[in-house]
Amino acid sequence: MITHGDRDPLAFGDDIGPEKIVFLRTPSVGLRAIVVIDNTAAGPAIGGARMAPDVSALECFRLARAMTLKNATCGLRHGGAKSVIFGDPGMPADQKEELIRAFANAIAPLENYIPGPDMGTDETAMGFVHDEIGRAVGLPAEIGGIPLDQIGATGYGVAIAAEVAAPFAGLTLEGARVVLQGFGAVGEHTARFLELKGARLVGVADITGAVTDPEGLDIDALARLKKAGRSVVEYPRGRTIPNDSLVAVPCDIWIPAARPDALRADNVGRLNCRLVVQGANVPVTHDAARVMHERGLISVPDFIANAGGVIAAAVEYDGGVKATAMAAIEEKVGGNTRLTLQHARERKISPLEAAMALATDRLTKIMQLRRWR
Ligand code: NAD
Repeated sequence: MITHGDRDPLAFGDDIGPEKIVFLRTPSVGLRAIVVIDNTAAGPAIGGARMAPDVSALECFRLARAMTLKNATCGLRHGGAKSVIFGDPGMPADQKEELIRAFANAIAPLENYIPGPDMGTDETAMGFVHDEIGRAVGLPAEIGGIPLDQIGATGYGVAIAAEVAAPFAGLTLEGARVVLQGFGAVGEHTARFLELKGARLVGVADITGAVTDPEGLDIDALARLKKAGRSVVEYPRGRTIPNDSLVAVPCDIWIPAARPDALRADNVGRLNCRLVVQGANVPVTHDAARVMHERGLISVPDFIANAGGVIAAAVEYDGGVKATAMAAIEEKVGGNTRLTLQHARERKISPLEAAMALATDRLTKIMQLRRWR
C-alpha cells in the first residue's frame, strides 16, 4: 500500500517509507527543524527546505512523499525528502543567514538528503547551505547553479502541464482565463508563461488577500508590488476580495500555487472552472480530488504538474545548464501530464489514481533494481 501522504506517517508508514524522520534543534540560534527522508532507492533524495512559522512533521512527510512520487515519475536518479524550518521567512537577513547556516550544519550527517529552495527559502539560502556542507541544489548562478526560482523552472512546467491538459478539458490556452492562488516564485512565473501562450490572468491571491479583474490583470504591475514587499490587494484596478472567495472566481483554469490543502471537501464545490493544475505541493485533499473527479473536472496532480523545479535541480546536480533543464521540463512534465490524463480517460479513473499508478510502477521497478522488494 502506497499513500500520497494522507495518513499519519508516525502511525503508519508504508511500503515506500519514510526512511527517516529527524527532529533538529540548535537552541543557541533558535533553530527548530524537521527532515523527512522518505525513500532513497533511486539515489540521494532531493527535496526543498521550507521556512514557515506553522509547519509540522505531517506536512513535512506529505511533502517528502510528493517528492518521492515526483522524482520517480520523472525518472530522476534521486529519491524524495523534505525539510521544514520553523520561523518567519521575513526575519532580518542576518538572523535568517545564521539560522540557515545552523540548519546546514544540523543536516550535515544526513548525507542522503540534498536540500533545495522552497517556500521561505531561496537560491541565496542554498548558497549558504552549500558553503557550509557542500551539498545543496538550486544554487545561485554565480556558483554554477541553475537558479530555479529566477528562471521559473516550476512555473514553466505548470504552464506546460496546463497546455497539455487543456484539450482534455475542452479548452485551448488562447484566451483561457486563469486564477492563481499564490504569487510567489511558482505563481508569478506560471502567470508569465501562460500569458505568453495566450492565457489571461483574471484572479490572484497572496497571503494578504485577493484581487480579480475579468478583463485581465497586469502581471508586471503585480510583480512590481511583490518586489516592493507589498500585496496584490494594492493593485490599483480590479476588485479586491477575501482570500477564501478566490475559489469561486469564474475562470477556465484554477491553479493553487501556495500552501497545502487549498481545495478541500468544504470549498471544492465552489470552484467555477474546467481545469485545475496543481502548482503547489499537496494543495488538494483526497476528498476534494474525489469530488472533482465525480464532477468531471480535470485536475493535474501536483507531482505531475510542478516537477519543473526538481527536474532543473537534478540537471544542475549533474552539471547541466539552463537550456538542458528547460528542455527536460518540457519533455518530462508534458509527457507525464499526457500519459496521466490519457490513462485516466481510458481506465475511467481519476487523474490522481492514474498518476499514482504511474509513480508506483516506476518506484516498484526502482526498488526491485535495488532488491528492496
Ligand atoms: P513563495 O514563498 O515564493 O510564494 C508563495 C506565495 O503564496 C506568496 O505569494 C504568498 O503570499 C502566497 N500565500 C501563502 N499563503 C497563502 C494563502 N493562505 N492564501 C493565498 N496565498 C498564500 O513559494 P513558491 O516557491 O512559489 O511555492 C509555492 C508552492 O509551490 C508551495 O506549495 C511549494 O511547495 C510549491 N512548489 C514550489 C516549487 C519551486 O520551485 N519554488 C517547486 C514545486 C512546488
